[in-house]
Amino acid sequence: MIEFRNISKTFKIGNREVNAVKNVSLSIQQGEIFGIIGFSGAGKSTLLRLVNLLETPTNGEIEVQGINIGSLSQKDVRKLRSRIGMIFQNFNLFASRTVAGNVAYPLKLAGWSKKEIDKRVSELLSFVGLTDKAKDYPEQLSGGQKQRVGIARALATSPDILICDEATSALDPDTTSEILRLLKKVNKELGITILLITHEMHVIQEICDKVAVMENGEVIETDSVFNVFTNPQHLTTQRFIQSVQ
Ligand code: ATP
Ligand code: MG
Repeated sequence: MIEFRNISKTFKIGNREVNAVKNVSLSIQQGEIFGIIGFSGAGKSTLLRLVNLLETPTNGEIEVQGINIGSLSQKDVRKLRSRIGMIFQNFNLFASRTVAGNVAYPLKLAGWSKKEIDKRVSELLSFVGLTDKAKDYPEQLSGGQKQRVGIARALATSPDILICDEATSALDPDTTSEILRLLKKVNKELGITILLITHEMHVIQEICDKVAVMENGEVIETDSVFNVFTNPQHLTTQRFIQSVQ
């Protein structure tokens, strides 16, 4: 479970302040697929980067799996990050490493032996359907295949949580559906909680259980996807829903 309690994040640029996240309280249950939707600059990425301490909150508390992450030692921050996988819009693969090399990378960092790594990488590539691409380089892959590698790499250390920051925004509609199907499999078969950022309401509709709508750093609405679609409270939410009709 992930719990945000009155979380705010302010960036200071010179003498200017940007309130990227404002007083957000949210609970995400274990095993949920939780979507965060909002226009560009709403604070979605900042909010999720707080979960693995890529950003530190200016105010408030975050609990991840029962642990308040505000006072962790450096060693425990590393441990926290190994429990949380992350995938991105631009895939962030290492161009100079093969598919297998990309997936092996977090396991090397974690000190696994070559034999253990080889076994785990082949399991992961089979799970994402890329066994035959192990020796290819990222530039030889399609966008959807690159994101499959990103997913395999994010799952390498068996995280409890997967954060997807606009993971399908660079993909065409069919490839988006394929990746969403794979994320559903990650959730159902591995029991991984998924936090997903998107600006596309149809992605929320296809895969999420619950959704939070962000605007100007605030969560303006949060509910089950069904309730949000059938009875949207906020004008911004209504605009997002109109975009899929
Ligand atoms: P997008 O859909 O474009 O990715 P977003 O909802 O993810 O947008 P954020 O990236 O969280 O939005 O940004 C929220 C606000 O915080 C923006 O005004 C952004 O400029 C600002 N911001 C984000 N990161 C930083 C940073 N490292 N330094 C200064 N300002 C930042
Ligand atoms: Mg973002």
